[in-house]
Amino acid sequence: MTTRFSRDDVDITPKFQKLIQEVRQNYFSRDPNLWPFYRDPGMAKYLSLIAEPRTQEELIEHYPNGEALRARLKSDTQIPPTMRAPGEIDPLLLYAAATSKQWNNPASAENVVTLPADPAIYGALMGICANANLVCREYSESAEDLEKLIVRRMAKLVGYDAEKADGLFTQGGTFCNMYGYLFGIRKSLKRSIRNGFDNANNYRFICSQGGHYSNNTALAVLGGNIEEKNLKIKMDEENRVDLRDLEEKLTACFRLKCAVPTIMLTMGTTDTFGVDCVKPTRDLVDRLCRQFNVETPPHIHVDSAVGWAILFFLDYDFNENPLDINHATILGLRRHVELFKQLKYADSFAVDFHKWGYAPYPSSLIMVKDKDSFKALEHDPEQFSYFERSQVEHYHLQSTIEASRSAVGVFAAFAALEYLGVQGYQTLIANSLQNAAYFCYRLKNTPGATLLAPHNDGPSATFRLYDPKRVQDPEKELAFELANGALPQYKERLEKNSNYHRADFIARGKQILYTNWVEYAAHTKYDQNNTCARIPGEKAVFFNPLITPERIDDFFDLIINRQNQRND
Ligand SMILES: *Cc1c(COP(=O)(O)O)cnc(C)c1O
Repeated sequence: MTTRFSRDDVDITPKFQKLIQEVRQNYFSRDPNLWPFYRDPGMAKYLSLIAEPRTQEELIEHYPNGEALRARLKSDTQIPPTMRAPGEIDPLLLYAAATSKQWNNPASAENVVTLPADPAIYGALMGICANANLVCREYSESAEDLEKLIVRRMAKLVGYDAEKADGLFTQGGTFCNMYGYLFGIRKSLKRSIRNGFDNANNYRFICSQGGHYSNNTALAVLGGNIEEKNLKIKMDEENRVDLRDLEEKLTACFRLKCAVPTIMLTMGTTDTFGVDCVKPTRDLVDRLCRQFNVETPPHIHVDSAVGWAILFFLDYDFNENPLDINHATILGLRRHVELFKQLKYADSFAVDFHKWGYAPYPSSLIMVKDKDSFKALEHDPEQFSYFERSQVEHYHLQSTIEASRSAVGVFAAFAALEYLGVQGYQTLIANSLQNAAYFCYRLKNTPGATLLAPHNDGPSATFRLYDPKRVQDPEKELAFELANGALPQYKERLEKNSNYHRADFIARGKQILYTNWVEYAAHTKYDQNNTCARIPGEKAVFFNPLITPERIDDFFDLIINRQNQRND
């Protein structure tokens, strides 16, 4: 949020309030009258145990025989020697489920985790029963068609040619990113499928300094040299890839005849929702490839594991604003929509339905613009000798990282899309953004508090709390830290501020809104050696549909009360 908004700009309109209430009631209430599968006695028992919002310690305290069950859970070594009759609810099964992390807690604003929607759980249950294995058509039949249907829908949503596009469900956003690297490796380093690429000619991968850690770990799994051959592009103030730095590094690679298999961008960074620009990257790649006669252009993959959900707004009528989304949120959304319209210029992108898509884990989809990307991954059909011969050259069998591949995520995502529809998703996403905007509004009017990525307008807020006694103008202090925090003489000042906030975060504990501490929430200006220091902060993410502005008010009352107490 760049502008200072008035209360009117961030208030929820009555029309929107009604819509989100309906979505909460119909799709997130775990109501057995609406979703009868919750009527199963074990399921009903589980739901009654988690009905009250509680921390794990409180849950165990209130749990009948909780301590004994916890002890058993942590020490049991024996498989039951005999059979147990069906119909009984296994006590340990119930205990483990009911005392797992409680995502239906309306205080939960932790990281990019979500409360799955009732229909998505319902779909996942059907999928579990069907037990389709997407490794090949023979073991999946219609489940494979369902996967393809979602791929077509997503292709249409992003603006790919649905005839040419392709995709598959895999284990998580990390695997989607692994595919992103792999497409580039197989296309650029042509012998790699048989010989690996440890002694391939020169290569460099490119990703953002602000990328998710999977941008490193997935590449390392593939055998990439992440220390010396994964070039990290600098970020601008909005945590986006700095296009000048990208141009410099890409030019240097091409000049040295160094292959660049993959450029990994991010749309919606995990902490601050930085959104890279795909179209200018595409134009840059095209121009430099022509200039240097590069035969195989880099594969552009976008890690949109979090951000993809903005796609539901690509066709939103911003003039009519049928959902009556508030002014502050509309401004940010418009800006995001312009950026996400560029996603179609990517060769592939990641979709985590288990994040902003309100599906249970795991439900991740890797989408590709051109089927040929999968072709490049195909292993020799001879290797798949135990599958029906006529099936081997069919579908993704020869191209996947996995063998057995669950269809549960497909069923979950399908059911979520089917029941929520575009309008349901728009309501949920706008609700996240409105809560984030309201949180930012309150934060700006709180002494000692400042936002770390004030331009990002995403579903999260990352912030720093300073001691109001020492710091009169928190924005100015942050600006000072950003400019000078890497200099040895100011290291102590930065640390003192960080320690003040960290101490408050720890002492406050999990109350009202469960937030996270992020060690690398912002970075200082780059020095002559192109290095910068990390600035930590606190983060709240507003995926949870149960969070309300009233709760956000309570959170800031708490912050202000604590400040007053410390000042007394
Ligand atoms: C969560 C996340 C990932 C990793 O996805 P998983 O589904 O957890 O494997 C990758 N990139 C970004 C930006 C993420 O937020």
